[in-house]
Amino acid sequence: MDRVFLKVGRERSVERRHPWIFSGAVERVEGAPDVGDTVAVCDSKGRLLGYGSLSPASQIRVRMLSFGADATVPDAEYVKRLVAESIARRVGHGGVSPLCEPERGVRLVHGESDGLPGVVADSYGGWCVVQLASAGAERWKAEIASALMDAGAKGVYNRSDVDSRRREGLPDAADGTVGILAGGEPPELIEIREGAIRYLVDVRRGHKTGFYLDQREARAQVGAFAAGREVLNCFSYTGGFGLACAAGGAKCVENLDLSQAALDLARQNFDLLFRGGVAPCPVSFVSADVFKQLRLYRDQGRSFDMIVLDPPKFAETKAQLMRAARGYKDINLLAMKLLRPGGVLATFSCSGAMTPEFFETICREAAWDAKRDFQIIAHTQQAVDHPVSLNFPEGAYLKGLILRGAVAPEQAI
Ligand code: SAH
Repeated sequence: MDRVFLKVGRERSVERRHPWIFSGAVERVEGAPDVGDTVAVCDSKGRLLGYGSLSPASQIRVRMLSFGADATVPDAEYVKRLVAESIARRVGHGGVSPLCEPERGVRLVHGESDGLPGVVADSYGGWCVVQLASAGAERWKAEIASALMDAGAKGVYNRSDVDSRRREGLPDAADGTVGILAGGEPPELIEIREGAIRYLVDVRRGHKTGFYLDQREARAQVGAFAAGREVLNCFSYTGGFGLACAAGGAKCVENLDLSQAALDLARQNFDLLFRGGVAPCPVSFVSADVFKQLRLYRDQGRSFDMIVLDPPKFAETKAQLMRAARGYKDINLLAMKLLRPGGVLATFSCSGAMTPEFFETICREAAWDAKRDFQIIAHTQQAVDHPVSLNFPEGAYLKGLILRGAVAPEQAI
């Protein structure tokens, strides 16, 4: 097997079981490994540190699959076992496989934190959707699909149309990275359930693998504060937080998103909710840019009792962080100004480069500028099926604050 030798002193992070080896840590590569090949990773003296997948074009040159001087050499069986173990960690009460629960939407494999760098696998009622974002993930595609089928998947659909693949030197969407990998053809829309709420998921055209499973618990937390409130659900996608608020007894819900396709599905999801027994409330769907629409509402003197801000990732990298910070401050400031006294703001950031502390600072500064006092009533984080390996803090990407405004809006400051 080809070997990668690290520079003197650069073995520390691998010894601490961090899965990424950056190009700057590599002294030399012995042999001529190809994209995605498994390599033995050695310190400067040639001592084995483990095995990983090579990404020759990426800044993250190797992603580790096994660690230590006596590490297992990753082969098809090993990769399949990692997938099976990851699924086993999601088995619910009663020992039922998550793939066999007809309406369960669940992340089965969450990349590095589940020991499978670059691999995401979600299941919607047993229909699996994978996103393979690294060279190693692509290399083990067939084994990953086969392990999912062995675990009871009805089919495995590939949605590896992610921009980051270009940094890995991998083919992008045009080159057959989307389509059936194994098993049957998924339905046009798959119905999943979160508590009392049913969602239709479009695995072909939806974002990511079709749905934002990572906000499952935050949606429930936010819904619990919605009773009697006029809600503005910004970046609504297919209804998410708006549905949770309607189920929680909101007075009315306005959903705002750029994507008409997302709003069309949101409309169907609200129909399902109200047909399922939740008392209907007035719901509207507005296709607009949140940055512009919040300014319009400010100029019109509109106000709300509850605003949700769940924007897409503003910062992909640390370099983009300051620009992203301005974006977060802008929407949070505008939203705070639109809130009535005692109003609730649920605000999120899914940018991995943004720490929870920095996000809170941005919200604090927005509140100063808005001349409003707020209390933090909850911190939120990604759902339990999106775990974070203690050795891989980069895995914690989603954070949120639920803030309650003071009753007298301009007191104290
Ligand atoms: N809250 C949702 C997920 C939101 S994802 C849930 O729980 O399911 C982010 C959404 O923001 C996407 O639907 C995207 O279409 C939308 N979006 C991105 N930029 C936007 C903008 N400037 N204005 C309005 N919507 C935007």
